[in-house]
Amino acid sequence: MPAFTHVKMRNISQANAFNLTPTQVEYQKLACEFASRELTGQSAKFDRDAAAPSDLLKRMAAAGLTNVRLPEAFGGLNLNTFEACLIAEELACGCSGVAGISEASEMAIMPVIQFGSQAQKQTLLTHLAGQPAFAGLALSFFEAAGAPLKAVREANHYVLSGIADRVANGSLSQWLLVEAEIVEANHAKTEVTGGNWAVFCLPSDCAGVKATAGAPLLGRRASDIASIECDKVKLSEDYRLTRGDERGPFVAELKRLNFPLIAVGSVGVARAALAHATNYARQRQTFGKPIIEHQVVAFMLADMARAIEAARLLAWRAAKACDAGLENEALAIAALAYAQEVVMNVTTDAVQIFGAYGYSKEYPVEKLMRDAKTYQIFAGTAEAAKGELGRGLLTKSID
Ligand SMILES: Cc1cc2nc3c(=O)[nH]c(=O)nc-3n(C[C@H](O)[C@H](O)[C@H](O)COP(=O)(O)OP(=O)(O)OC[C@H]3O[C@@H](n4cnc5c(N)ncnc54)[C@H](O)[C@@H]3O)c2cc1C
Repeated sequence: MPAFTHVKMRNISQANAFNLTPTQVEYQKLACEFASRELTGQSAKFDRDAAAPSDLLKRMAAAGLTNVRLPEAFGGLNLNTFEACLIAEELACGCSGVAGISEASEMAIMPVIQFGSQAQKQTLLTHLAGQPAFAGLALSFFEAAGAPLKAVREANHYVLSGIADRVANGSLSQWLLVEAEIVEANHAKTEVTGGNWAVFCLPSDCAGVKATAGAPLLGRRASDIASIECDKVKLSEDYRLTRGDERGPFVAELKRLNFPLIAVGSVGVARAALAHATNYARQRQTFGKPIIEHQVVAFMLADMARAIEAARLLAWRAAKACDAGLENEALAIAALAYAQEVVMNVTTDAVQIFGAYGYSKEYPVEKLMRDAKTYQIFAGTAEAAKGELGRGLLTKSID
């Protein structure tokens, strides 16, 4: 059996083609060192346990690697999306499951920053900085099957019922953003302004809210995916984040701000797979030479490397456009769709390069392939992303 040596993270200082500022290089280095020290070597155990230890999450938060886009007014670092991407790639390269916890929270805080009232921001965003405190989202935007919850509008409050399946940070979250269809208690026609759709901020400790762990997952198993059941949960108007006429802008913002982050997560997983495969291909000998010297293997590795670079560049471009306040929705979808494809192809090829060893839990690439599959589903399927991009091309370009 060939000796297996653990692959260290890539030396990140070379990433400066994008003119990273010294501070950005520092954030990237911090995340890289944290991932090398705390995640990479432990990721198989987190995968087996299907959990991330709470003291690890504490250290990740204390290191400033969670909720990184939180504004300074709430004690946060106020990083932009590009900077958040630098951190997200490093964490996902170390352990995609653990990275999923910070990613889901990062996705949930942004709509509150963008759409929340001052009072909502104060209530939801305070206490998230530097703490192992997380948020999550239960939305149906990426699937055809309507809002997961119903909200019956009574005289001066709403009553939420229903089940939202597969919610990232479902058990860990302090609060969730949940999408609901509004139904009038007296069956009256729903008012036109506002429409019959809303996103609510749902505190996890509200009476009637129950989180239940779902069936075991294929990949990203250290993340916390739970079903959220609402049994007649009473929420006042203060908990309603959006009106019906904000649905379009809300969905667009969600993609604009978060798809680059998910795309670089895929890049991190693919990067780990390439590193393992390259290392192995240098050591494994067949027909008297390392397999990397067989042209077909070298070509596979070359294709993996260039796809990873391209996926990162597309994600970074989408993130930069987002930070510059440019219309980047289509670019963000393109970044997600491309990265979804790259991570699956690269991790599958990594398993192939390891041969039979790749197909066993003795080596890390089978986990990376399982993790990769999740990226093609959880933020909207690969087909949905490509379909949306295609439809968009009918009317606008991705420039
Ligand atoms: C690990 C994990 C974490 C998740 N976390 C969250 C979360 O935090 N919050 C949340 O709200 N949701 C979450 N989800 C749910 C996720 O958003 C949905 O699973 C995803 O949007 C796909 O929906 P679906 O599972 O209902 O698949 P379906 O929509 O039923 O799709 C099934 C298949 O049919 C294809 N398909 C469907 N419609 C079309 C069409 N019109 N044209 C072509 N092909 C189509 C799909 O591409 C797919 O291949 C999570 C899911 C997973 C697996």
